[in-house]
Amino acid sequence: MPNIGIVMLQGSREAHAQALYQASKLLKINVVIKELRTVGDLNDSDLAAVVIPGGESTTMRKVGGHEGTKILPEIYKIIRKKPFFPVLATCAGAILLADPQDGGEPLLQAKVERNAFGRQVDSFFGEVQVAGSNESANCAFIRAPRFTAVSENSGIAFLKGEPVGIREKNLIALTFHPELSETSIFHEMLLSSAISNTGGDQI
Ligand code: GLN
Repeated sequence: MPNIGIVMLQGSREAHAQALYQASKLLKINVVIKELRTVGDLNDSDLAAVVIPGGESTTMRKVGGHEGTKILPEIYKIIRKKPFFPVLATCAGAILLADPQDGGEPLLQAKVERNAFGRQVDSFFGEVQVAGSNESANCAFIRAPRFTAVSENSGIAFLKGEPVGIREKNLIALTFHPELSETSIFHEMLLSSAISNTGGDQI
């Protein structure tokens, strides 16, 4: 029964939890959701995967890097130490992985540009095609970032042919919010790598 952590800084954390439960039902596994607020929560939780929700990356950086929480630097440390550790990062979460600003290397090879679709009023729903499947989902792009560079064959989700979701090893980074749509396919991908990731990359 894998423990899945959700970083509780900002964003639609409850919707991510619901999507994880929906995914776990479809995959016929049980998951335990752990709410991650501080570095202590990380150390106590024996995690098989982590979700970093969206929000405002500047605020998330401040709160998540604060002395009292230190949750983000610790997650970056884990990913650097365990390159196959499964993470689903949506929107601001993807920005943080691409540009952790902690003095270390980016955690993704892909490059992102913040707010690249425009301002809050330019937020929209778009039909996202899932690579390698017939599935598509109407997903929210909320002051969304845009990938300005992605490595070859890393695209897993496309909007009108443009990559809006990528996967590098077990890091899944999406510029949109699948948790606010009907699909749980990206959460299923996360759980699949969490249960098959027997190479010791649990923490
Ligand atoms: N615009 C936000 C940022 O740059 C991301 C928005 C989101 O997560 N929905 O951090």
